Amino acid sequence: MVTLLKPSDLTTRFAPTPSGFLHLGHGLSALLCNAIGQGFILRIEDIDTSRAKNHFVDALLEDLKWLECHIKKPIITQSNRTHLYQQHLNQLIQKKYVFPCFCSRKHVTQNLLKSTEKTPQNHLPFYPGTCRHLSHPSIQKKIAQNQPFSWRLDSRAFLSAHPQTVSFHDIIKGHPSIQIQKGNDIVIARQENQHTLQISYHLASVVDDAEQRIPLIVRGEDLLHSTYIHRILQILLNFQPPLYLHHGLIKNEKGRKLSKRNGDTALHEWRKKGKTKDDVLQAVYNLYKPCLDAFQNFSQHYNPLNPHHNPSTHTITPQPTP
Ligand SMILES: [Zn+2]
Repeated sequence: MVTLLKPSDLTTRFAPTPSGFLHLGHGLSALLCNAIGQGFILRIEDIDTSRAKNHFVDALLEDLKWLECHIKKPIITQSNRTHLYQQHLNQLIQKKYVFPCFCSRKHVTQNLLKSTEKTPQNHLPFYPGTCRHLSHPSIQKKIAQNQPFSWRLDSRAFLSAHPQTVSFHDIIKGHPSIQIQKGNDIVIARQENQHTLQISYHLASVVDDAEQRIPLIVRGEDLLHSTYIHRILQILLNFQPPLYLHHGLIKNEKGRKLSKRNGDTALHEWRKKGKTKDDVLQAVYNLYKPCLDAFQNFSQHYNPLNPHHNPSTHTITPQPTP
């Protein structure tokens, strides 16, 4: 048993989307959050109501109990907090850091194929800029016609106000910095009609982490690429940047990351088979242990008054993932 050094004030959060059963990868995240933060805040990320289902919430609560995780109350449910996200979206609208985009997904894809601007990395969403210069009357007309639209982050407006690279501190990966590209105008909300506003995962997650004062975000490295979007939103909304710990991913036999959709290694199946938390811990140990070691190393030198300027943290080397 590892005895964790302080700081116990490094509250973590576990934030699953209840669109399927938790799998072994979620088990790894939850166990890490639990060990590092001595329990964690649970946030149900159910803003995409078309995908979220109540019975998956019940199942994940059972799974977390079975994993002996300590859940700090209250449990937050994002679908109850749209007004909060709306307030922050309004700030971005007022500051003109977002613009309305009336393009369909098909239109964006077709225009990108014609565009000479190429996406530098496959997973970074690019936008051909079709609606960036729509006139105010034209926008008003489309809204009056009840056309659905997305609020896109204006990467050009961000870059002209913040030309420096965006960086963050990751306990495993050090200080990755990202050069934001013009054209990464990601969607942060979608107005389906006058009454239905769908907030993106990015905005909701960033607002909640700030509102809940989460100083350390523990999550899988499949979300590493979205951290730059989160950092932009944190800068624009004047939020303190949290620390990050992106852990390695568990792969299936085919070398793919586990997915809720194909039922890979669902924790509830393990539960039914009479397996225990220790079986899960053993299965994820190769990824769990290096993260915990890195955290311990980090926490020995952690200064909560100055969390982002700690020279010792530069010496942590990334651990190989099996
Ligand atoms: Zn558009």
